[in-house]
Amino acid sequence: MYDLVVKGGVLIDPAQGIYERKDIGILHGRVEAVETRIPADAKQVMNAEGLLITPGLIDLHVHVCRDIASIGIDPDAFCLRRGSTTVLDAGSLGHLLFRIFRRHVIEASKTTVFALLNIKSLGMIEFSKREGWSMLLDALDGLFAKLFVNVEESVRTIQENRDVIIGIKWAHNGLEYLRLARKVADEAGCLIMAENHRQPDALKYLKEGDIVTHLYHGLKPRPHDGLLDEDMKVQPEFYEALKRGVILDVGHGAGSFSWEVAEKALEQGIKPHTISTDLYTLSVDGPAFDMPTTMAKFLHLGLSLEEVVEASTAMPAKVLGRLGEIGTLKPGAFADLVAFKIQEGKFPLTDTMKKTRMGEKMPLPVAVVKWGEVYKLQ
Ligand SMILES: [Zn+2]
Repeated sequence: MYDLVVKGGVLIDPAQGIYERKDIGILHGRVEAVETRIPADAKQVMNAEGLLITPGLIDLHVHVCRDIASIGIDPDAFCLRRGSTTVLDAGSLGHLLFRIFRRHVIEASKTTVFALLNIKSLGMIEFSKREGWSMLLDALDGLFAKLFVNVEESVRTIQENRDVIIGIKWAHNGLEYLRLARKVADEAGCLIMAENHRQPDALKYLKEGDIVTHLYHGLKPRPHDGLLDEDMKVQPEFYEALKRGVILDVGHGAGSFSWEVAEKALEQGIKPHTISTDLYTLSVDGPAFDMPTTMAKFLHLGLSLEEVVEASTAMPAKVLGRLGEIGTLKPGAFADLVAFKIQEGKFPLTDTMKKTRMGEKMPLPVAVVKWGEVYKLQ
């Protein structure tokens, strides 16, 4: 007998090429069967008639260093309860603080949390504006990198935490830090996530499997600092990066998603591989909000529902090297799923430049299942 049967929903599971009505049988926290009809004799039955079922969402860019750094949010309250059953902390902390992050957040959360290590040993200190770290970083730049980046200890921390650390993060600082991140990645055999700044130079450091996040930011005064040049054309180096297998990630956040940039980029064929929120204290109450709202923005931009689900489940699972366990509802996978109601109407969707477009479809999560346990949301 199953522990849980999810009955009557329409399953979208791009990893299996499924987009049809299916029942899902769950036993001991894993998917046991995906079939057209599964009898309802289970310990628990979830009626999913009229709902859309997807694998649990995987948000590849969040900051969940709650209580440790000021930008951190609680993953269970703001990710799991909004549909993300797995998240990647995008380098909030460096090697000096990683042990406490592992114990206090990764091991204590219901949400599955993977991490990137920040190349700076203390992590994203630049957000502690009152302490003047950010001024010090800017003033000293290369010298700061020499003093506060520890390649050896970063490599060691990654090696000791292979089960949860998947790479190294470069953000907000000069290219010297990225050069050092490359060194760590090569020595530890892991990936780099780089923010989409100082382009096209930053791309030169990225290899197959590395990630560029904040793909569609429109930050000034350097409008050509990211994807597009001054004429709103995609910089050619991005096509080369795509060819060599660099992953393009959304990383919406509070300052990194511009409708105009996204629209121009999509016209020129640049779609995201992965949709992510960059959720932290300044973006969680808008304009990013959560994965479903960010997904709605890409539905509005013309991506199909299957594409949007794939970029929020199977693709990020692949980037994490865990497709099969997560990112799909194939038998054997963890029983992580979301039941959505697709609402139709007019939904104002605001970017980080305060521009609003009217979305017509909003995927509203009504229940989340994590390792077979049901969380009702509405
Ligand atoms: Zn971030």
